[in-house]
Amino acid sequence: RQKNPGEPIFHQAVAEVAESIIPFIRQHPKYQEECIFERMTEPDRIISFRVAWEDDQGNIQLNRGYRVQFNNSIGPYKGGLRFHPSVNTDILKFLGFEQTFKNSLTTLPMGAAKGGSDFDPKGKSDREVMRFCKSFMSELSHYIGHFTDIPAGDIGVGAREISYMFGEYKRLSHEFTGVLTGKSLEFGGSLIRKEATGYGCAYFMEDMLKEHGAAIEGKSCVVSGSGNVALYCAEKLIRLGGKVMTLSDSSGFIHVPGSIDEAMLEEIIELKSVRRGRLSELADRKGCSYYAGMKPWGVPCELAFPCATENEITKSDAALLAGNGCKAVAEGANMPTTAEAIEVLKRSGILVAPGKASNAGGVAVSGLEMTQNSIRMAWGTEELDVKLRTIMNRIHTQCVEYGKTDGYIDYVKGANIAGFIKVADAMLAYGIV
Ligand code: NDP
Repeated sequence: RQKNPGEPIFHQAVAEVAESIIPFIRQHPKYQEECIFERMTEPDRIISFRVAWEDDQGNIQLNRGYRVQFNNSIGPYKGGLRFHPSVNTDILKFLGFEQTFKNSLTTLPMGAAKGGSDFDPKGKSDREVMRFCKSFMSELSHYIGHFTDIPAGDIGVGAREISYMFGEYKRLSHEFTGVLTGKSLEFGGSLIRKEATGYGCAYFMEDMLKEHGAAIEGKSCVVSGSGNVALYCAEKLIRLGGKVMTLSDSSGFIHVPGSIDEAMLEEIIELKSVRRGRLSELADRKGCSYYAGMKPWGVPCELAFPCATENEITKSDAALLAGNGCKAVAEGANMPTTAEAIEVLKRSGILVAPGKASNAGGVAVSGLEMTQNSIRMAWGTEELDVKLRTIMNRIHTQCVEYGKTDGYIDYVKGANIAGFIKVADAMLAYGIV
């Protein structure tokens, strides 16, 4: 804490991983002697820069841009860009650190980074977003490249923002390379990339339940968020026979007591992704209740999918989930469950899939987008979905291998140890760097 003052979220992420890794490295002294875990908590470098842009009224606006290049031991830096007013070094170090383990778990050759800006795209015109993205990329372009660092989307960065940034990079570099993932299909994007994180999260839950002799079919599901991850997690759950009762945004949540069906979900996808509207617009809809300013964790369910943001399930939310008979939680967001909440869930025997395992489908398909760009080919939906399914299954298998304890599979521990080993072994091989 003395070394990284004022970084509570980063401390939280490191403490959660340390809890699993420290006992493991005590049994494997080669990692301890070489201080591998300590070295893994220090980013390779943090870049921060001014982003000046002009709003529609002709005023100059200023934001701060960042790229935290965390670890490139097993491949080029890879990780999303987040545009949200809360973005700072603390948040990006936490996300970059988590990304190191997640990318390792995918079994693909990808290092870890995270970046973004405190710019808020909400309420901005398309032209303002474009001017911001181009200014942001004019500086970021010095530090990225298809063999060095390949950014992608995250909160506030979707297809529109990626397209503006890709266009600017292409212009500045005089190159057409796969320097960003999450691109549109017309210029090198991959099929099922936008669905991949959400689908992967549902697949991970499917594997976790199968391991325990159960299935998603017929189970009541509570999903938070209504962004890229939440919407496609809900879509896959519905297709697998789950009953998705809720979705939320930062203003409140909707509750459909039976289940949101595919037709209603399609409308919500249009509302949130195309019109950039609010869930409150569904408040008057028959059979759907809207709860302003609330989170959905009090709705009784068997399966929970936090897919909005960090620390959205607190200790009291976890107690509500446990009291209402929840059986399993799969994190679609990054670190959406606080450390105290995870303790409550585990003590209640609830299975917990950590985001670094259950939301790795997005970066996995980003890795596949890089492969397609390199070989100048585009794979079909079915082929990619099979690859995504296989990768999620491999991640599950690794978590079980390292997380099995008497009568309970500790997926948090399993994901941390399995993600650690590959990166740690590469760092050992490189000597002291
Ligand atoms: P989006 O920007 O598409 O959606 C975010 C959703 O979460 C929105 O519904 C937003 O509501 C809600 N939200 C954001 N901040 C808060 C908050 N403080 N309180 C309550 N709700 C909030 O982001 P993504 O779906 O891409 O990302 C969601 C999570 O998943 C993040 O943790 C991200 O890091 C993680 N993730 C994303 C991946 C991806 O492929 N996109 C990959 C792996 C992880 P509103 O509309 O009101 O802003």
